[in-house]
Amino acid sequence: IVADVLEEGQAKILLEKKNVFYNPVQEFNRDLSIAVLSQYSKERSSQSSIDSAKEKQKDDSQKTGLRVLEALSATGLRSIRYAKEVPGMAEIVANDISIKAVEAIKRNVIHNGVENIVRPHNDDATMVMYQNRRTKFDAVDLDPYGCPSIFLDGAVQCIKDNGLLLVTATDMAVLAGNSPETCYVKYGAVSLKSKSCHEMALRILLQHIASHAGRYGKAMTPLLSISADFYIRVFVKIHTSQAACKKNTSNLGLVYQCVGCESLTLQALGTNPSNNVYKLPHAPAVDKLCSICNHRHHMGGPVWLGPLHDKNFVKKILTDIDSPEDNNLKALKTLRRIQGILHVVQEELENPLYYQLDRLTSIIKCNVPQMASFRSALLNAGYKVSYSHANKSSVKTDAPNQVIWDIVRAW
Ligand code: SAM
Repeated sequence: IVADVLEEGQAKILLEKKNVFYNPVQEFNRDLSIAVLSQYSKERSSQSSIDSAKEKQKDDSQKTGLRVLEALSATGLRSIRYAKEVPGMAEIVANDISIKAVEAIKRNVIHNGVENIVRPHNDDATMVMYQNRRTKFDAVDLDPYGCPSIFLDGAVQCIKDNGLLLVTATDMAVLAGNSPETCYVKYGAVSLKSKSCHEMALRILLQHIASHAGRYGKAMTPLLSISADFYIRVFVKIHTSQAACKKNTSNLGLVYQCVGCESLTLQALGTNPSNNVYKLPHAPAVDKLCSICNHRHHMGGPVWLGPLHDKNFVKKILTDIDSPEDNNLKALKTLRRIQGILHVVQEELENPLYYQLDRLTSIIKCNVPQMASFRSALLNAGYKVSYSHANKSSVKTDAPNQVIWDIVRAW
């Protein structure tokens, strides 16, 4: 029955035609996840050594490495790759609801000789997560078809304190504003059709995770949030802290998009303005017309307004990639793409959302300046500017809308 053997990273997967899901386009997603999980594992093991030096004894997890759940595993490819390519894996539960998928996982686990680490499991992902609320996982990977919402409640409960949650969402049409009502139903936030829809999608998903975590007194800290191809992928740390949960509220806000000039205005939800990093307006903007062109607004959100990435964490991954010493990252097939995206991420301003230069100029039908000249104009006016990894022609800036439009009009 076996039709092909597929090789990805260090895994060899026996592919049976039409039986179990395999998507080659997601190799970048899996490679990136290996880079992030490796860094996380490294940090956890150095933290364990510090703790154990202090306490002179290790608990079970410190002795044996990380316990990971891949809740929706399909062929087992991702789990097998984690087992073979990420240092410090103790146990990986490769779960799938489909019996055929789990049969494939079992064959692939044996074929790759990782029976000592990867444990195939056949159940509904939500059941596995609820059953592991006490014996928790260090990392939970959710890679569903479409929307991950129904798995988040279980995931935030079965992750250890300071554990890692890795989430993919592929329902980009919903998240990017094609169906704002569906987005509200699935993610508890209204999406907007906007040129910065890919970052908006990331911020909607992060808001949704924060809201699930908050119900259990847990807060979320994004390590890396990536928009790529037809999906988004976020890597967040989950930790218990009532104070951090409250602070997370100040990182939530609404997005107003003018129906005329498409200017974006943000409004924080938190009631304490001093908590908010961007000093956003707290007066309701909904009844105000756009200060640039006097049109009304569409309202989107709530979205996560806090940082999308932990730059320090990203820097450590880049340092490992650039290091002259050989390590597990060097063999990743999409290494150059990871490196490219992470370098852009490092430079990304933390100010939420962005404009697209050719869209700004087409709105008022003027010439399109060179990107470099436009960026220089913003810098000369005393503002910061960067690209977003999510859009090649993006302009991310801390300049007020009025300044941006003054520069566009002057061209
Ligand atoms: N993570 C895999 C990879 O990287 O190759 C791909 C996973 S595929 C997109 C989604 C899988 O989720 C399918 O194999 C499907 O059978 C499984 N699935 C769907 N609903 C599920 C549920 N409630 N519990 C467990 N598995 C589920």
